[in-house]
Formats: sequence, C-alpha cells, structure tokens
Amino acid sequence: MGTFRVLIVDDEMDFLETIVNRLLKRKIEATGVSSGEAALAVMKEKEFDVVLLDIKMPGGMDGIEVLREIRKNQPLIETILLTGHASVETSIEGLQSGAFDYLIKPVKFSELLEKLIAAFEKKNAQEQKIRGAKIRGIIGFE
Ligand SMILES: [Mg+2]
Repeated sequence: MGTFRVLIVDDEMDFLETIVNRLLKRKIEATGVSSGEAALAVMKEKEFDVVLLDIKMPGGMDGIEVLREIRKNQPLIETILLTGHASVETSIEGLQSGAFDYLIKPVKFSELLEKLIAAFEKKNAQEQKIRGAKIRGIIGFE
C-alpha cells in the first residue's frame, strides 16, 4: 500500500487534533484544517485520497458546500461527512451530492478507520478502472 493521505476538516479543535494524532500513529498521512476555505486551499497544494468533512462549521462555507466543490474539482477524492444527530437530514443531502458515507458524532475511532479504509479502497478501484480504460484505448481493444 502506498501512503494513505487523509484531510480532516473540523472547526472543533480538540476533535481535530485528536483525530489527526490518532491517524498519524497509524501511519496515515493526516492533515487537519478548521474551515471549508482552508480545506479547498490546502487541496490545491497537496494531494489527498479521502476527506473527512464536518458538516456544521461557522463562517463562510458549510460541509455540504465544500463537498460540492470537491466533487466538481476532484471527483476521484472520496469524502466522509461528520455530523451531529440533529443534522442527519443534511447527511442524506450529502450522500445525494456524492459523499462516500457519513459518521455521527461522537465517532468511534474503529468505525472511523473502517470507513476511511473503505473510501480509500473505492478511490483505488476507480483509479484502476481509469488506468484500464486508458490502456484499452492505447492498444485499441475497446
Ligand atoms: Mg462543527
């Protein structure tokens, strides 16, 4: 397995730091930012496989808006939404907008890891399909 690069976007600093540190301990290349704007900015500089995205964030952009930007600009990146019990409706909206899955806070770390890995596998499978299609194009076997 190559490196697994995860971006965590959450305005709760304690939560953000805890998750980043726990993922780093598992040798997952974790980066944390605390706003949607910061997420889109860092995604222009660095490559990620999966984004863990809080839905409710104060200020300009909420998670759903960030999700839509990601789907538009980098559709191969998988996104998992983080939500409170109160905003499960929004999670459904998120799934309809192309999120891989969602997690309800408080998040069990084992469940988080499981979903991250499933999202990573999906991204890799998609990339492999694209490579396959390119090869088929090159050798004229379509
Ligand atoms: Mg929040």
